[in-house]
Amino acid sequence: MNTDKKELAVAALRNGTVIDHIPSNVLFKVVKLLDIEGMDTHVTIGNNLPSRRMGTKGIVKIADVTFPEATLNRIAIIAPGAKINIIRDFEVVEKRQVRLADTLVGVVRCGNPKCITNNEPMRTRFDVIDRDDVTIRCHYCGKTVKSVDAQIC
Ligand SMILES: [Zn+2]
Repeated sequence: MNTDKKELAVAALRNGTVIDHIPSNVLFKVVKLLDIEGMDTHVTIGNNLPSRRMGTKGIVKIADVTFPEATLNRIAIIAPGAKINIIRDFEVVEKRQVRLADTLVGVVRCGNPKCITNNEPMRTRFDVIDRDDVTIRCHYCGKTVKSVDAQIC
């Protein structure tokens, strides 16, 4: 395989999931959120790529993995404009936007050190209180946070 072909092999995806239009500043949060680090499939991560709409963007390509819809929708917490492309045999067979759920369980860590979720072995729970601004509120202590600033569990 010559160098050109190797580059193509990295760029193209036969089967898998492409997450596009991720704001550059949250790309690695998305990687963490999907637990991509622990996967042994072929993963391509690109960041600070030129985007006409966003200035720069990040993109993640994960070979041979299709995520449950609920998992992908978690991306909406930090990247509400992200787009999902499902690839089969080099063709995009499904294209859709991530969708923010009303409640997030076990996804985001509460920023309040006194919150029960930081002191008991339990899952966090946040309610989305502003969808335009993507602001979420801890179900247990009431602390609100803009989701882009939220710590992923
Ligand atoms: Zn809390």
